[in-house]
Amino acid sequence: MSNGKSILVDTSRCTACRGCQVACKQWNGLPGTKTTQRGTHQNPEDLSFETYKVVRFEDGRLENGKPYWYFFSDQCRHCIEPPCLDAIASHLEGGGVRDEATGAVLYLPPSSKAPFEDVRSSCPYDIPRQNPKTMGLAKCTLCFDRISNDKPPACVLSCPTGSMVFGDREDILALAAKRVEELKQTYPKAMALNPDEVRVIYIVIDDPRKYHKHAAV
Ligand code: SF4
Ligand code: SF4
Repeated sequence: MSNGKSILVDTSRCTACRGCQVACKQWNGLPGTKTTQRGTHQNPEDLSFETYKVVRFEDGRLENGKPYWYFFSDQCRHCIEPPCLDAIASHLEGGGVRDEATGAVLYLPPSSKAPFEDVRSSCPYDIPRQNPKTMGLAKCTLCFDRISNDKPPACVLSCPTGSMVFGDREDILALAAKRVEELKQTYPKAMALNPDEVRVIYIVIDDPRKYHKHAAV
């Protein structure tokens, strides 16, 4: 297998416009989710079988008392060694695959027969969801139908700030390392999250737990 593809998500450049969230729904033909006002700009509340990508909003106070407001466009990381596929394979054959050329992690129809809670709890980032009617498992596909036709994922294409970049894994890893070094000049805690283990590599400027409890392992 080649080293495949990767996405860089530089959260320091994200303005929380949610273009990526909407583009994901549009490309995958997913409906909007009915929600209620919960006192936050994050909407919907979480990932679901019809929301593969959600921009999380987290706010609070830094150690020096200044406020922070962080944005984190959460989605499947397309792990290099995906534990969710191991969980599915422990129950049945043919429930999922990691594409040889791109590294995309994909669920196939038989996965609906795998015990959902086993699959969800196997994921360090709490990503898999289940359609309660069809029992099908659902998550981001890395826009496999697009990237296997030399087009970038819909979310990346939609991003107006350059927060998201798609490319060959070696190039994305090099870009991530360069950007972290730049950010460290201003934000000493800047880091890439688990870059050796995932294809969707986030950069943060602070403790990842301030962004989302499952941001990093
Ligand atoms: S992030 Fe979770 S759902 Fe995505 S490939 Fe990794 S283990 Fe599977
Ligand atoms: S499209 Fe880009 S800037 Fe807008 S929410 Fe998504 S990652 Fe952030």
